[in-house]
Amino acid sequence: MIVRLKRVGDVSTELIYEAADAIASEYGLKVIVDPFKVEPPMETFNWERLQYLASALTMKLAQEKARGEFLVFLVDADAYESGLNFVFGIALPRIGAASVFLKRLRPSFYGEPEDWNLFVSRVRKEVNHELGHLIGLDHCPNPRCVMSFSNSILDVDRKSENLCEDCKLKARELLATWEGS
Ligand SMILES: [Zn+2]
Ligand SMILES: [Zn+2]
Repeated sequence: MIVRLKRVGDVSTELIYEAADAIASEYGLKVIVDPFKVEPPMETFNWERLQYLASALTMKLAQEKARGEFLVFLVDADAYESGLNFVFGIALPRIGAASVFLKRLRPSFYGEPEDWNLFVSRVRKEVNHELGHLIGLDHCPNPRCVMSFSNSILDVDRKSENLCEDCKLKARELLATWEGS
């Protein structure tokens, strides 16, 4: 399996390469950065909430997905899912595509001064989290594990960008089954 990363909206080259590095370092997968940017599909925008519907956006963008790859979108926008006020990201393992939404990962969203390193570390965690779901990992009770569920930005900041030992073992097994298929 390879991972293809794609920018949606105004996402910097530097940021997408950080995301690529996080995935390659944690999962040992080959990561390809798509040089093109696409615009988020407006038909998945909710004009009352002023947010994208995460699953619809991801499904729409994943229509161009090739076999043998996981697709991960870095989306410069805010998104929600039914029953949730917002999501930092979403993974659709059955179609092999995931999105990470940047708006609520920026310190400025919380009235904090811009902090590139903090922003990057949050993005690295969220892409590793969604990729974990794509390969088949569930949420993990270990609060330091990147697969722990994040309800708020405090949860994101509390966890590391790495899998705990249990999840690492599971990931290795799951990746072996992917390679065999
Ligand atoms: Zn999750
Ligand atoms: Zn874990």
